[in-house]
Amino acid sequence: MQHWDIWGRKYTMLGLLAYYDISEDNKALVAAKKLADHLLTQVGSGKVDIVKTGNYHGMPSSSILEPMVLLYKHTGDARYLDFAKYIAAQWETPDGPQLISKALDGVNVGDRFSFPKVWWGWENGQKAYEMMSCYEGLLELYRITGEPSYLKSSEMAVQNIIDTEINVAGSGTAFECFYHGGQRQTEPTYHTMETCVTFTWIKLCNNLLRLTANPMYADQIEKTVYNALLASMKYDGSQIAKYSPLEGQRQHGEEQCGMHINCCNANGPRAFTLLPKMAFTTAANEIMVNLYSESTANVQLSSKNKISVQQKTTYPVGDQIELIVLPDKPEKFTLSLRIPAWSGQSTVSLNGETVQGVQPGSYYKIDREWKKGDKVVLTLDMSGRLIKLNGYQAIMRGPVLLARDSRFADGFVDETAVVQNKDSRVVLVQEEKKPEHIWMSFTAPLVLGTDLEGDGRNAKPIHFCDFASAGDTWTYESRYRVWIKQTLNVMNAAYKPY
Ligand SMILES: [Zn+2]
Repeated sequence: MQHWDIWGRKYTMLGLLAYYDISEDNKALVAAKKLADHLLTQVGSGKVDIVKTGNYHGMPSSSILEPMVLLYKHTGDARYLDFAKYIAAQWETPDGPQLISKALDGVNVGDRFSFPKVWWGWENGQKAYEMMSCYEGLLELYRITGEPSYLKSSEMAVQNIIDTEINVAGSGTAFECFYHGGQRQTEPTYHTMETCVTFTWIKLCNNLLRLTANPMYADQIEKTVYNALLASMKYDGSQIAKYSPLEGQRQHGEEQCGMHINCCNANGPRAFTLLPKMAFTTAANEIMVNLYSESTANVQLSSKNKISVQQKTTYPVGDQIELIVLPDKPEKFTLSLRIPAWSGQSTVSLNGETVQGVQPGSYYKIDREWKKGDKVVLTLDMSGRLIKLNGYQAIMRGPVLLARDSRFADGFVDETAVVQNKDSRVVLVQEEKKPEHIWMSFTAPLVLGTDLEGDGRNAKPIHFCDFASAGDTWTYESRYRVWIKQTLNVMNAAYKPY
């Protein structure tokens, strides 16, 4: 029961339960029960303490909370619910990871425990993937018990991760641990943006999006998907990277456990398969559109009327999303469009008429009787946004982070430069001609080789591509960089999340 033993049993249980959900093969449920029953003979009150097993204050072992609650849902057997409650209670003992109290006390996820002597050991309490997996389990337990502190602590932990850890590409960590990555993301970081962290962050945000319908979580998901997640996948879909740093070159991860894959090869595809389910969600009488992409959703609300919603768009290359609403019979319901917080100027039209009151960082709700062919057009603000931190600059366009890539052969990607801007807006010119395996290409005006703002007269158009395409030869031929150094003296200004 040491190292990754119980963590491995967790994934076996999750796999068995997921297989049972789609196949209804009772053997899978029986196997999951046997696995849980065996664990209950080893761990619990008067037996081995779960937070003393494995690494990281017992967080990997404790994350078995999620399948334990799911098993209770499937079987109604109170022993599994009792065990789930036992795990949450053990967290708050002196040896436990104190995931509820430390979150409620506002302790930063990177400061939960003192710096460990052994990084891959029990005393390290900052391991990101495992910590977030525990909150996933806690939210499942909240769904059963309604205990408000379970939801509140998860929300506060996620807000803290946004405020202190998530970088411009929507992921983070150093050596797979929280480390104040928001502030420190401009420094070269070893073993950063583990794809398991990226995936679990998306999954945890999605869990809270479903519970709270707060569009902030969908904004986070979108940023992570278009940047950290897409960057992890090789251009031909044959590989998922283990780490995707903000500068350097893309590369394969190591093989683990004597097999030809690693944890991230396994988790990356899980993130991609979550996307269709997250794009549209429904409440009793509402359809929420969370992600914008060419797609069709077929849903039924409380009336059981069949409703189809089609999205026609090239977003995030283009700025416009057309939604065609096709109910079988006319029906009154709310169609809610996520207006991203970054979109300063968004417009919505309904059957050709522009509507008022569209606010960034909210859902724009249209409540009416919908008829076949009703059309909504959403236009988002895709102007280039300059982000400054620690004497460095990065550019975002909509949800997409941009990067320099040496394949463009227009200078040294690591050189000092000043990105020309007006009120933090950067004029980007879309380029049709681009190297192979690059999705989007733009030029931005840069004054190269200086740290002075100047008057911009010496500015040159320098190429950028979307971060996901940067380095996507997976060879030394494409070195890439997100943060462009401006000032020679790095000043650590107070960090604000983006
Ligand atoms: Zn991994």
